[in-house]
Amino acid sequence: MAVTKKLVEDLEGIVGSKYVMDQDFAQYAYGAAGIFFMNTMMEVSDRSAPPEVIVKPRTTEEVSEIMKLANETKTPVTIRGGGEGYWIGGSKDRGIMIDMTDMKKFIEYDEVSRTARAQAGITWGTLNEELEKYGVGTGNYGTHGLLGACVAGSLNADSPGPGGGKYGMPGENVTNLEVVLPTGEIVRTGSLLNEESKFNFRYCNGPDLAGMFIGSGGIYGIMTEVWLKTRPLYEHSETVGYSYPDFDTAVHAVNEIQSDGYLTEYAVVPPAGIVEDLLGAMFGKGRPLTLVVTESHSETIEEAQKAEIDKIAKKYDGRLVGLGGLLDALGFGLYDRHEFLGGNMLGLLGPNATAAVTCSIQPLLTAPEVMEAEFAVCRKYEDSYAYSRLLGGKVWLGALIAAGELGAAYAPTVFSFDPSNDESRKTAYRVVHELLEVKWRTGYATQFSNTREWETPHVVRRYDPQSLELMKKIKETLDPNNILNRDFVIPTSPYEKVDKIIAEMESEEVKK
Ligand SMILES: Cc1cc2nc3c(=O)[nH]c(=O)nc-3n(C[C@H](O)[C@H](O)[C@H](O)COP(=O)(O)OP(=O)(O)OC[C@H]3O[C@@H](n4cnc5c(N)ncnc54)[C@H](O)[C@@H]3O)c2cc1C
Repeated sequence: MAVTKKLVEDLEGIVGSKYVMDQDFAQYAYGAAGIFFMNTMMEVSDRSAPPEVIVKPRTTEEVSEIMKLANETKTPVTIRGGGEGYWIGGSKDRGIMIDMTDMKKFIEYDEVSRTARAQAGITWGTLNEELEKYGVGTGNYGTHGLLGACVAGSLNADSPGPGGGKYGMPGENVTNLEVVLPTGEIVRTGSLLNEESKFNFRYCNGPDLAGMFIGSGGIYGIMTEVWLKTRPLYEHSETVGYSYPDFDTAVHAVNEIQSDGYLTEYAVVPPAGIVEDLLGAMFGKGRPLTLVVTESHSETIEEAQKAEIDKIAKKYDGRLVGLGGLLDALGFGLYDRHEFLGGNMLGLLGPNATAAVTCSIQPLLTAPEVMEAEFAVCRKYEDSYAYSRLLGGKVWLGALIAAGELGAAYAPTVFSFDPSNDESRKTAYRVVHELLEVKWRTGYATQFSNTREWETPHVVRRYDPQSLELMKKIKETLDPNNILNRDFVIPTSPYEKVDKIIAEMESEEVKK
């Protein structure tokens, strides 16, 4: 149902008029994505539209009241955290958008459970600033999304990020959740199923209900509070750089360093495109660069870890490079709990054009296969790519593997195109889906199953029908009016444009 004046007034009655916006500039702003590139993707799409009204709750009870009202009036609701994920705007049926960024209170650090409790719209940066007072941090610092990503946004998008090399995905660090269901009831998970519980633990009191909400793209409920494991803040941490004879060797070396438990974070930069020119000048043509971050609470352990890393690197013919120390000195950390620069590193490859990051989850050892498949697509479209004044040439591809969770890697590709040119925009849409399709063919899995125009069309083609049926049944049970994050994860119509691109790819391959 369209949003009426009465509905806006009722929302104002719940949160106060200051926290409700229905002006056209607000609709427009909330209809856009934090990542500019996604706006371009959605221009080619009919799956999203600006919300009619935006509401900013501050308490769980307010969220619950909003959902009850939305059900009574059958109004679609879209949830927004920091808004910097690879999705955009409201439901195509418009309706209400709930902006969760005012639910940002740090509530407590519990030293018995060693957990942090906060409202779910808190950013990773703010949460970790608060935790510093107790000498702890979240270990995994959410995403490389600079300062804007909220804890619940990352949990719902399954975002991997800094610290993932040691501490896994953000979702693995959740002990408990408080969630408002689509119909407005408030539930808690894990040890907090027992109202008398005195500690925070996930795997107890029955099924792991938290797991159902994590990575769900917000289709099963709205997270209002989160409890996360914490880790000590280590005094000693260093970035160690090595260059290796080739990409495959580099990946095997980092894999061994990781499986021995010596690193918290890593990056493997393959020698390709502009990266090859830059690295070639420093380390010799064709040699990839790896950076690994170590941490420990004593200098003795730190030195011992570095010695072990050096042994492994030498075994793979690795050559120590001083770049890690230089980056540390400049404060340009791969592992940065305030996340100021980490993600931006990717954007630097394509100034004057738009850089896009794409992410995937894949085992580290399969990275060479994925990279090769991606490079083939990028080479095919080389002529369409934008010119970068800073780098003095066409920026066709920079690729980086970073921030993997245990045993897996996160592999964004970066490329540039001209957003003011229609043809270039269409090519960008096509290249993105060809890149995703070739990656999917290597057998990987996705975070971002909520993204509607990005990973979703590819995962949907591959869902086994019975698992999809189960997801749909849970959705129908929890959200009988199908109002919450409609069309996220479980599509309401076929992805014809993407299916067509894939069909054309397949027919080109047959011709070859
Ligand atoms: C420069 C840059 C670097 C990035 N690097 C990374 C990276 O390293 N790794 C990575 O994974 N991503 C990365 N991203 C993407 C983005 O940062 C992540 O997806 C981030 O986790 C999104 O958080 P958010 O708060 O912006 O969530 P949003 O984008 O607002 O929301 C994400 C999803 O969660 C849902 N949601 C939000 N809040 C709630 C809630 N309270 N309850 C239920 N559902 C909710 C939304 O409906 C949506 O489906 C990057 C983005 C940028 C701009």
